[in-house]
Amino acid sequence: MLKIDLKNITKEYQKDLRAVESVTISAEPGDFLVLVGPSGCGKSTILRMIAGLEDITSGDLYFNDKRMNDINPGDRNIGMVFQNYALYPHLTVYDNLAFPLKIKKHHKTEIDSRVKEIAGLTGLSDYLTRKPKQLSGGQRQRVALGRALVRKPDIFLFDEPLSNLDAKLRVQMRNEIISLHGKAETTSVYVTHDQVEAMTMGTRIAVLDEGKLQQFGTPDEIYLKPANLFVAGFLGSPQMNFFNGKIDSKNFINDNFKLNYDIEVHSSKVTLGIRPEHIEINNDSYDFSAKVLRTEFLGHEQLVYAEVGSETFCIRTGFNRNYSKDETIHISFLRDKLHLFDNLGLRI
Ligand code: ADP
Repeated sequence: MLKIDLKNITKEYQKDLRAVESVTISAEPGDFLVLVGPSGCGKSTILRMIAGLEDITSGDLYFNDKRMNDINPGDRNIGMVFQNYALYPHLTVYDNLAFPLKIKKHHKTEIDSRVKEIAGLTGLSDYLTRKPKQLSGGQRQRVALGRALVRKPDIFLFDEPLSNLDAKLRVQMRNEIISLHGKAETTSVYVTHDQVEAMTMGTRIAVLDEGKLQQFGTPDEIYLKPANLFVAGFLGSPQMNFFNGKIDSKNFINDNFKLNYDIEVHSSKVTLGIRPEHIEINNDSYDFSAKVLRTEFLGHEQLVYAEVGSETFCIRTGFNRNYSKDETIHISFLRDKLHLFDNLGLRI
């Protein structure tokens, strides 16, 4: 298995217009590295540079200790899976899987045994004589995965492979991809704009925005200690609640409420963040009162949207009782779950 290292990688499609700016990240052998961020943040560009489909403007790409910037895509031993499966419609599943090996002029018996092995691995053994149009979306996606796997790639690259699938199938395919990644013993890089996919699939996550790396870490590091306001707001649904204010004499203060907060910071401008699941309702001791705006019933839990002064926020709570519109509730923030960001949006 290979280690992938990107060192200060920059991409300019046009002079002085940076699609990717000095990104340094790495994937250890066997890692499932997820690149996540909103549309246009540069994730596909990074993936294409790893594949060799796009030149690197500056910076260095290494597989293990070998610099790869100038190595042809065909010599990188990479398997790629895209959002549109790009299967050959006139070929059977068998021939789609065999295609990459035929091009490389492998022997017929070797192709046969490899195709059957991959079909077994991807659950396609019973569908080898079918054409793509006779398959379900999930099966087509499996053919695309199998075709990328068949040449025993050192690295697996995925570009939003699940975007075309419905929600249920997406969850199933997530698990299948992770399981295949484990069985194939590859290092994988996976691009998605979906923060749930990033959190559930990645062993490491790189969060990007506007071509710049915002944070690089394990899912729990990124969720529990977001490096800045962008990451804090991007991961988690409903997103983290933010309150602007100041810290003064061990209190967080803004126009709408005051919270005793034992932290050694004196700043005239901070943003306090707290996730909806870290707010409690109606404890004996509480921080402030708020008014219920509306609730959303999600079955195993409910979301309560509330208002304090001019600010609204979201609370995630169990379904132990109903809250009615305009009801007054008493709110407490779990102190060890608070996040604080400075006036530049960086974590304090
Ligand atoms: P993402 O995959 O995160 O949606 P991309 O990597 O596709 O983002 O694009 C990053 C930025 O680079 C975008 O602003 C996009 O418009 C620009 N871009 C992508 N491909 C090209 C190209 N071939 N020529 C010029 N600009 C491009």
